[in-house]
Amino acid sequence: MTQFAADRYLSTRGDDTPTDFAGALLRGMAPDGGLYMPGRWPTLPADVARPGRTYGQIATDVLVPYLGDALPPAALERSLAKLVAGFDDPAVTPLVQLSDDLWMLELWHGPTAAFKDLAMQLAAALSEEALAASGERLTLVTATSGDTGAAAVNAFADKANIRLIVLHPLDRVSPVQRRQMTTVPADNVLNLAVEGDFDDCQRLVKGLLAEESLRDGARFSSVNSINWARLAGQIPYYVSAVMQLRAVGEDRAPHFVVPTGNFGDAFAGVAAQKSGLPVAGFTAAVNRNDALARAINDGLYERRPAVETASVSMDVQAPSNFERLIFEASGRDAVATRALFETFAAEGRVEIPAVILSAVRAQVAAVSVDEATTRAEIADAWEAYGRVVCPHTAVALSAARRLESQDAPVVALSTAHAAKFGGDVSSVLGFDPEPCPVIRDLGDRPERLTVVEGTPEAVLAAVKGFMAG
Ligand SMILES: *Cc1c(COP(=O)(O)O)cnc(C)c1O
Repeated sequence: MTQFAADRYLSTRGDDTPTDFAGALLRGMAPDGGLYMPGRWPTLPADVARPGRTYGQIATDVLVPYLGDALPPAALERSLAKLVAGFDDPAVTPLVQLSDDLWMLELWHGPTAAFKDLAMQLAAALSEEALAASGERLTLVTATSGDTGAAAVNAFADKANIRLIVLHPLDRVSPVQRRQMTTVPADNVLNLAVEGDFDDCQRLVKGLLAEESLRDGARFSSVNSINWARLAGQIPYYVSAVMQLRAVGEDRAPHFVVPTGNFGDAFAGVAAQKSGLPVAGFTAAVNRNDALARAINDGLYERRPAVETASVSMDVQAPSNFERLIFEASGRDAVATRALFETFAAEGRVEIPAVILSAVRAQVAAVSVDEATTRAEIADAWEAYGRVVCPHTAVALSAARRLESQDAPVVALSTAHAAKFGGDVSSVLGFDPEPCPVIRDLGDRPERLTVVEGTPEAVLAAVKGFMAG
């Protein structure tokens, strides 16, 4: 097998035409339908988590090996400075202690109050840098059920040589999420409110991505969580968590509990561990959409219709980054990975081979948390720790508290500010969560959105009008 460097990207489905970081960033998905992976895992510097280091310093150490020489030398520094400036906490991702061995890593101090900001702000800044270096333009299309669109609009607004088109289901995102997308006065962003549901939006995006008449010389891609750059942008906060534990004298390797949808957040943790970060283990906590938990616990990966839950950003039944986990667990066997996901695509279910399954289980455990338990956890977190948490965070906290005592500090990732999901939270606690500044600041600024019929023709016409204008 060819040996690759960390800054050369290969596909989980076998295409090993060397691609650099900029290629993986601007393309999103590999041409053979697989996901990009670094040629090998870089090794973190020995002192990467030494107490006192800033988020920017940690992120630089983490990301330099992945970027290689794909971008101008100062590009990463500029991009990280922009990222950090958008966060309202000096630690960027502060770690708070809830009890002796339970901690919470707050990932929502950025401009749209959810963890997607961490990766999206960085991906947007790096995309702008990559396009400036190559002289290309980029058109991005994405469907959203809320958080991704909000983070993307904020991150890509007014970025040079980039257009962003976001489709959300009309009246089916929360008012806060909608206003986060529609009150940004950026001429390079088109918000389409589609008469239909999220699945309709996804289908329409697929149609747009295949639409030849929209190719006007710009690169054409999507901003979803399979993009390697987004994943890489989530690795630094795992290192930061270990650094913050050490800063208070806790030197044991932590166990991370990650509220999981597409498994992008959790896989970034796996990447950190592969690069040498001391981690005791990972638990992926899912809601009632439990395909991932069933795959890991029962060995059968099976698609079922997604159901609506309070942790709506985790309502995923075919987690896209599961493919990266399988690729690693199979010893980077692209043939086995391709076979498994082609079977899954064709038949909606696939048995995970025993050898791969045991490697998956050695890497990550999974639990499913139902709606009643999620609500009970929102109440418990308030009662026991005085913390108002969002439903996604509650799923993680519930799973964290169920872990058998394991002589390791347990770190639950907190992925959104409670005020973003105020209705769900107040229906449990009886009061509204304290609004955070970035939500309050939305005020009653005018909204920019175009309502369209959920048909390919109507959406195409709206997109063409935008691109011509
Ligand atoms: C997207 C999201 C998640 C799930 O993250 P994945 O990387 O898709 O597993 C969890 N919580 C919140 C608030 C999110 O927006």
